[in-house]
Amino acid sequence: MLTLPVYLDYNATTPMDPLVLEAMIPYFTKKFGNPASRNHAFGWIAEEAVDLAREQVSKLIGASDKEIIFTSGATEADNLAIKGVFEMYREKGNHIVTCVTEHKAVIDTCKHLEKLGAEITYLAVNSDGLIDLKELESVLNERTILVSIMYANNETGVIQPIREISELVHRHGSLLFTDATQAVGKIPVDVNEDGIDLMAFSAHKMYGPKGVGGLYVRRKNPRVRITAQMDGGGHERGLRSGTLNVPGIVGLGKACELCRTGMEEEVRRLSYLRDKLENSLLELEETCLNGNKEQRLPGITNISFSHAESDGLIMAMKDIAVSSGSACTSASIEPSHVLKGMGLSDSLAHSSIRFGLGRFTNEEEIDFVIEQTQKAVKQLREGSPFWKLFKEAGKAEWQEN
Ligand SMILES: *Cc1c(COP(=O)(O)O)cnc(C)c1O
Repeated sequence: MLTLPVYLDYNATTPMDPLVLEAMIPYFTKKFGNPASRNHAFGWIAEEAVDLAREQVSKLIGASDKEIIFTSGATEADNLAIKGVFEMYREKGNHIVTCVTEHKAVIDTCKHLEKLGAEITYLAVNSDGLIDLKELESVLNERTILVSIMYANNETGVIQPIREISELVHRHGSLLFTDATQAVGKIPVDVNEDGIDLMAFSAHKMYGPKGVGGLYVRRKNPRVRITAQMDGGGHERGLRSGTLNVPGIVGLGKACELCRTGMEEEVRRLSYLRDKLENSLLELEETCLNGNKEQRLPGITNISFSHAESDGLIMAMKDIAVSSGSACTSASIEPSHVLKGMGLSDSLAHSSIRFGLGRFTNEEEIDFVIEQTQKAVKQLREGSPFWKLFKEAGKAEWQEN
């Protein structure tokens, strides 16, 4: 059934799964206790719920439940991991390696640490969005305390070779942190098989509530230590003080369980729908896919429609909720730093749209989006003098920008 508008922005946030909401509701009212209250049943019941959620999260990512720290989301987890390692390992070094296509929560945290004496290397990416492992190896030195490379990109879905990165990083005696907000719950992620030391994730990107997420911190081989960024009652083994968001944590746990049990089927279904959408849109002339076609998440495609500005397209496709570039940068008119990092011209970056599919996307919606997008692109180009010039001059003589 087709209900408008169609939501295709699952990488910005996801609706909660009704089963997640159902699991959360009792913890707002009847089971409202504070898990830190050790003296009565209200506290015990809340603590039990948090323990279960910790297990559900751990199981999804192959961790042990003592390695999970609940936070307010991935932004906080990114801050805690990077600032926490920087403060703790100051004696060892001040060098951190990251990459130009990271989420702002990572890049801006690194920028902040630069003012405090950190030396940051921002690795470039290839035109397909992947980092170059040789380049990574060449920048690692004995002062490198942390490498922060995201698991999957939020604008293109490109998946970095985390296992290979981990081997390199560990051979050089550094730690690997990965912002896996877009990957956890969508594709198999296993902290041991992937060799991850710290990992950030967020509930609202995997059908859980907003305002809750977590940081995985490895406890052995090696034991990773971080400095708390929030002081107070010593919750979460002293690493994140503040009364736990019990309903949120229950929701995160339930969301993880649903993602784990439904993953195989969901990957298959979303890949099929995404490919159908992508292939149909790429049939339009002068369009291109952004990012590596193989190493990427199943439910996302990022496409440039040259000579059709994405703002105009989005306006023309008023019954479809999509994003031009990243949702986090769409408040400003800057072209996406991710697409720019991959070498796209400003004009091509401004003509790109991210389509993000998810659990509640159906084939009728995809058929509608194909039809509407094709119509909007043609319409916009017909009204563009540049498109006319381009068609008259022929592709060979036309220079982008
Ligand atoms: C959404 C997102 C974040 C921010 O997560 P919040 O939980 O909203 O703070 C960080 N990194 C990536 C890759 C994201 O997609």
